[in-house]
Amino acid sequence: MAEMHYPLKRRMVVPEAIQNQLKREAHYGCVICGCPVLEFIDFSRTGIQGDELKRQKVFLPENMVAVCPSHNNKFQIGELESAFLSTSKNTPFNRVHDDLAFATTTPNEFTISLGGCTFVNTSRLLVVDDFDLISVKRMDQRFLVMDMNFFNRNNQLVGIILENSWSSERSKIGDWDIEYLRPKRLVIENKRENMSFEARIENGNDLRILADGLRYNSQKIQITQNEVLLDDREVGADIKGTVLTNYDVGIKAETTIF
Ligand SMILES: [Zn+2]
Repeated sequence: MAEMHYPLKRRMVVPEAIQNQLKREAHYGCVICGCPVLEFIDFSRTGIQGDELKRQKVFLPENMVAVCPSHNNKFQIGELESAFLSTSKNTPFNRVHDDLAFATTTPNEFTISLGGCTFVNTSRLLVVDDFDLISVKRMDQRFLVMDMNFFNRNNQLVGIILENSWSSERSKIGDWDIEYLRPKRLVIENKRENMSFEARIENGNDLRILADGLRYNSQKIQITQNEVLLDDREVGADIKGTVLTNYDVGIKAETTIF
């Protein structure tokens, strides 16, 4: 992925190796609800709040767990007990309810539908001006792991998912609504920015992505059932209606028309 945009400030920056370990043990979903958008908390640090949490320097994975932003918030306001998180760490949702995990049913080929286009074995799905906006791959041949970049109309990166790890500007966290609905449906909304994103697995091995109000270079991106639009211009029309396998980039678009 291009690195022209700096990552957002995080409450605590958990080393990547620890994030990866926590994601693996959670089977890439919140240990409580299976939501595939993740933050990381140290459940031994109850009673520590606000700025003190930001100053954490030492991370002990045995005291840490991967949860979705909404379960993280519940922990921060004292609605989730450490003991519950510790138990959930050992019995993560995606292991107990394997059939509800954001994963394909089988390790066989899976398809991704974007607008009217269908891709197989293609990870980089939407690239605008050479910047990767949406990518999806599979871990352990089943669990879907996403990279997503949410830009607002001022071309500011306001939310990032990097291999399912979530970061956003903390002061604006309340603007985001991230929900994992049954069956296997992830919905992300930001009402202030008028953005919505949905990824759902249908029929076992088909992923469908829909979006509205995403932006790049201030141009609006819409992904409907039948079209991908960049500032109301359809992109990828030439590859619609066919199944494309082993593509380097699914849909490639430019904000400048020459
Ligand atoms: Zn959760």
